[in-house]
Amino acid sequence: MDRGEIKDKERTKDKEEVKDREKILEVKHLKKYFKQSGKSVLKAVDDVSFDVYKGETVGIVGESGCGKTTCARTCIGMYPATSGEVIYKGKDISKLRGAEKRSFTKEVQIIFQDPYSSLDPKMRVGDIICEGLRAHKMCKSKEEYNKRAVELLEMVGLNPEHANRYVHEFSGGQRQRIGIARALAVEPDFVVCDEPISALDVSIQAQIVNLLSKLKREKELTFMFIAHDLSMVKYVSDRIIVMYLGTIAEITDSKSLYSDPKHPYTKALLSAIPIPDPKVEKERERIKLQGELPSPTDPPKGCRFINRCKFAKEICAREMPQLREVEKGHSVACHLYDEQI
Ligand code: SF4
Repeated sequence: MDRGEIKDKERTKDKEEVKDREKILEVKHLKKYFKQSGKSVLKAVDDVSFDVYKGETVGIVGESGCGKTTCARTCIGMYPATSGEVIYKGKDISKLRGAEKRSFTKEVQIIFQDPYSSLDPKMRVGDIICEGLRAHKMCKSKEEYNKRAVELLEMVGLNPEHANRYVHEFSGGQRQRIGIARALAVEPDFVVCDEPISALDVSIQAQIVNLLSKLKREKELTFMFIAHDLSMVKYVSDRIIVMYLGTIAEITDSKSLYSDPKHPYTKALLSAIPIPDPKVEKERERIKLQGELPSPTDPPKGCRFINRCKFAKEICAREMPQLREVEKGHSVACHLYDEQI
């Protein structure tokens, strides 16, 4: 058996292992529309379906305006869905009430993109971190809250004395560490990381990604990791969903996405990642995305990628391609995925 065959076998095994795991989230035909002025409707998320398995990191990638953040926020109940279902641990989140709803709001947390605006400047860091603990009455005394704040600060690499300071006294990376401590304080199971590094200096980004990966491993968390490009998602995701204009273009495990992308949009995103080897970088062919992302209030008929796809044929204008599984665990929404494109 040659190395290629061994790799293929390993990849199939990985996909099967993911499939065997328990589903923590099932998203079924989810739509999230926003009414605009006049009669126009912004179709931010337009009929997406996917599952998230316990313990994995699912990356959601796409340009600004593709619907990834709206999708993730609708999945955790921050926005009510226009239609479709979000099933968390077997229960429809729109039907949760009382203790079940409280339990959901504790188990599901979000780390926001912008640590500058997501933390209250008037609160001390210790109080910010303990907000969720207090809301869910997780400690019995003031001393216990203080002790927990110190543990959480140490967990994210900050000092105990930072608890008495205000957020303006911290750098961007430190503020994101505070945001991580706040999200993980209530011991969640499922965490949405909404572009947690895009507002940070490049030099800090890897530190935050490493911290998130370490905490995910230690606390056996499930992550949904949102990003606008594929460069960092590659290192953190087990599976990746590529979104385009409110719909899913491609879903597969991260190895397959990088070695065998099938959608022209995925190929364009991948070709935008710089390769550190100058010789390879110089020789490789880049696929340039033509034109702009169309408006989600007026998406193209047929394939939503049609105005930017150099492979488009007549069928692409006529019919919207459906997401279909073309290999085990690998789904793509393109009429011509198997042609030499
Ligand atoms: Fe391009 Fe057609 Fe595939 Fe859409 S369906 S990505 S237009 S080839």
